[in-house]
Amino acid sequence: MSIKVEGVSKFYGEQKALDNVSFSVGAKEVVGFLGPNGAGKSTMMKIITCFIPPSEGRVEVCGFDTDKQSLEVRRQVGYLPESNPLYHEMYVKEYLGFVAGLYGIPDPKKRIAEMIEATGLGVEQHKKIGQLSKGYKQRVGLAQAMLNDPKVLILDEPTSGLDPNQLIGIRQLIKQLGKEKTVLFSSHIMQEVEAICDRVIIIDRGRIVTDRKASEVSDALGGQTVIVEFSAEVGISALRAIATVKHADRVQGLTYTVSGSGSEDLRMLVAQWAQQHGHLILSMNVEEERLEAVFQRLTATDR
Ligand code: ADP
Ligand code: MG
Repeated sequence: MSIKVEGVSKFYGEQKALDNVSFSVGAKEVVGFLGPNGAGKSTMMKIITCFIPPSEGRVEVCGFDTDKQSLEVRRQVGYLPESNPLYHEMYVKEYLGFVAGLYGIPDPKKRIAEMIEATGLGVEQHKKIGQLSKGYKQRVGLAQAMLNDPKVLILDEPTSGLDPNQLIGIRQLIKQLGKEKTVLFSSHIMQEVEAICDRVIIIDRGRIVTDRKASEVSDALGGQTVIVEFSAEVGISALRAIATVKHADRVQGLTYTVSGSGSEDLRMLVAQWAQQHGHLILSMNVEEERLEAVFQRLTATDR
């Protein structure tokens, strides 16, 4: 087992953020850790990566105990924290060199070049981190997390705040990484988890409510509604013709809602459609209520 969590609880003062959580992740498995905000995802990840101790229970990573063998655990684990704290004034290579120094990586230049290649940072590698887009900052975070060639990658909401095109890139990258590494990544977007991983663990209010294969989760998915603002008028019938789209309507001005069901993330389909037809998307959001409803339906059967 790459990750083994046994009866972990975490209290912040009076508040119980994790309540007797147990699960394990096998080598080279890609597991999505899904749950609404405040569910306890980040807390669990900080415990696995030895940033905070559990109040109760124990965690093993590659056979090492996070409490008694934290140095060994840190050697096995690459971690992309939720709000990835990057040094904006540093150049990409300078920052990765700094991290390589912390790990004492032999031949850092070669390793850094490999990671720049692996994360697709090539064209941006001579810039300052502060000059990069959010998607490229995430790539720097991923390069940093992989620098010491960890067996296990813990990625906390790696796609949050990315635009649809950046999303596609980062998801492909995670999928690629999963071929060689154990990956546990968190998200509050169901379609995303389903698109990338083998297994989905759903956590809600500190408890695991579901742990099943991604394909089983997709069966429970009802549909998705996105709210899109275009830079100019688009045809509703054209929107309705996008694969898996069932409904499309104009809400007001240049804002439209598009709903559909299917295993592919609707945002990706809409973004691809817009690109193909030369439309510009100014903003796109998942209608959260719908998502919550699906989430509740999915978890209700397990309670
Ligand atoms: P998620 O990552 O799923 O959004 P978190 O693990 O960040 O959830 O938080 C779980 C719960 O613990 C939340 O209710 C949050 O407010 C609380 N919490 C998280 N970190 C702290 C902290 N350092 N001090 C107090 N409460 C915290
Ligand atoms: Mg979090």
